Amino acid sequence: MQDSVQDSIFMKIIRREIPATIEYEDDDIIAIRDIQPIAPTHILIIPKTLIPTVNDLAEADAALLGRMVLVAQKLAKEKGIAENGYRLVINVNKDGGQTVFHLHLHLLGGRTLAFTM
Ligand code: 5GP
Repeated sequence: MQDSVQDSIFMKIIRREIPATIEYEDDDIIAIRDIQPIAPTHILIIPKTLIPTVNDLAEADAALLGRMVLVAQKLAKEKGIAENGYRLVINVNKDGGQTVFHLHLHLLGGRTLAFTM
């Protein structure tokens, strides 16, 4: 079923309507394991408000974005990948490979990542 403008698969996860493995949660952000991981650690850091893409970000979202990166940093340390390194990715629209139109930051690590994903 197509997501409506106000909804997304991630909103359903946030509302506990569909299951996910939650790695972190606070009032504004949730982090879940990707259902189709492309690396040993593959976590999605997601704001609880539905911002569809980076194109929709406003100045007022700057702190939220910063906090998403800090959640990624914390999870990378917890997962033991901080020293070896990891990648943070936000895909945007069709050419960027975005498939879920609810902003999310991919935390990828646990193997050497080639330049292209
Ligand atoms: P995008 O391609 O939009 O940057 O990333 C979307 C990601 O969400 C993909 O890596 C995909 O595997 C993941 N994903 C899609 N649906 C679900 C779901 O229902 N649960 C979880 N945990 N991840 C999902």
